[in-house]
Amino acid sequence: MAEPMRIGILALQGDVALHQARLAKLSVEAVPVRGADELAACRGLIIPGGESTTFLKLLEAYALGDPLVAFARERPLWGVCAGSILMAAQVQNPAQHALAILPITVRRNAYGRQNESFIATFPLRLPGQGALEQEGVFIRAPQVVAWQPEVAVLAEYGGTPVALQYGHHLATTFHPELAEAETMHRHFLALCGGERLAASSA
Ligand code: GLN
Repeated sequence: MAEPMRIGILALQGDVALHQARLAKLSVEAVPVRGADELAACRGLIIPGGESTTFLKLLEAYALGDPLVAFARERPLWGVCAGSILMAAQVQNPAQHALAILPITVRRNAYGRQNESFIATFPLRLPGQGALEQEGVFIRAPQVVAWQPEVAVLAEYGGTPVALQYGHHLATTFHPELAEAETMHRHFLALCGGERLAASSA
């Protein structure tokens, strides 16, 4: 029998419940992940927004850094905002450790402070599909300032990539769980091998 479609959401900190609700709406079991055993049972993992420095401390406290890197070799990760910072190869402003899962360089808090957070719309181009209008909620978001040619830019805003794909991994500097469209969640499910699920609830 096929393995059930279980997607993890790293639940050390940050915006877990909205991703869980979004996946539940798409009929996918979404489980909070705080340990390596829970991680191993997932087909993919979302690292939600939050505060990347706090995530780094908690990853160490929960001994989850190495299991995450090992998991990413086999299965998809999607980093949202702080999650994309954790997955980067290099972090600026200030420099900090990251898991080097994506060959990108990000600059933290690149749009300014909390009250300079904003909502914008831009075209999102998923592989094999036409452009779709995507709403992006940016909350003290990073900017991707450099990326290797193997990284596909799925969307950009103001000349800067805001959604990227590298193999089976995704990164968005905005928060799709706060927008109406389910496009990014469906795309992640497709990368996790749930094409049928992602399409059937369309
Ligand atoms: N500013 C946060 C950081 O640097 C990210 C904010 C977010 O995830 N919404 O980690």
